[in-house]
Amino acid sequence: MQQYFRDIFVSVWTILIGMKITFMHMFKPTVTIQYPDVRRPIPERSRNRLYVNMDDCIGCLQCDLACPVNCFDIETVKSLPTDDLGMTSTGQKKKLWVTKFTIDIGKCCYCGLCTYPCPTECIKMTDVYEFSEYKRHDLIYNYVTLTQGEITDVKAKAAEMEKEAAAKKAAAAAAAKAAPPAGVTPATAKPATPVATATTPVSTPVEVKAEASTPQSTETKA
Ligand code: SF4
Ligand code: SF4
Repeated sequence: MQQYFRDIFVSVWTILIGMKITFMHMFKPTVTIQYPDVRRPIPERSRNRLYVNMDDCIGCLQCDLACPVNCFDIETVKSLPTDDLGMTSTGQKKKLWVTKFTIDIGKCCYCGLCTYPCPTECIKMTDVYEFSEYKRHDLIYNYVTLTQGEITDVKAKAAEMEKEAAAKKAAAAAAAKAAPPAGVTPATAKPATPVATATTPVSTPVEVKAEASTPQSTETKA
């Protein structure tokens, strides 16, 4: 019977000890938040998901070159002289079509090295840190603003321009090959070759001259 009441006392006592901690925290300021409904502010310069303003991107590839883990896949196409791609907000003329611009954020180590060399400051790290996906492929972000039709059109025009340029270059090279060397007229150039080839010996120039002068002297003698 005595043991029975002792067990009851110990149970109540241990409950009171545990509840003491709870009662103490009831009168302290709360430290927990109702995430994800409530979020703590993060530091101003924290590095999270990347953002690219494609209106300002000139396709210079500086970000790609700076990335230590090859997150970027960028492809550019030369614009035609008649194309007007506009200017960036920093006043630079855009000369290249950016037909591919992806960042594999799954590889990204958030070093921020890609943001520093950008001449137009169009790539930035944002404060967005919740972007988990079920598939790894969904972490490859596409930033290109051109439609597939526009990309095909731009590439076709660039290929045509390159073809024309190559044809012009080939024609110019052919014309240069056909023309005589500068400073040498065709009349002086032609005789030199047959004499040298007809009298094969290496010492011919002198001997040829001697032979050439011989008939004159014989004629005079006769
Ligand atoms: S933050 Fe670093 S790892 Fe991520 S894309 Fe930029 S350079 Fe590459
Ligand atoms: S460095 Fe800037 S301008 Fe150059 S390709 Fe990257 S995002 Fe575009």
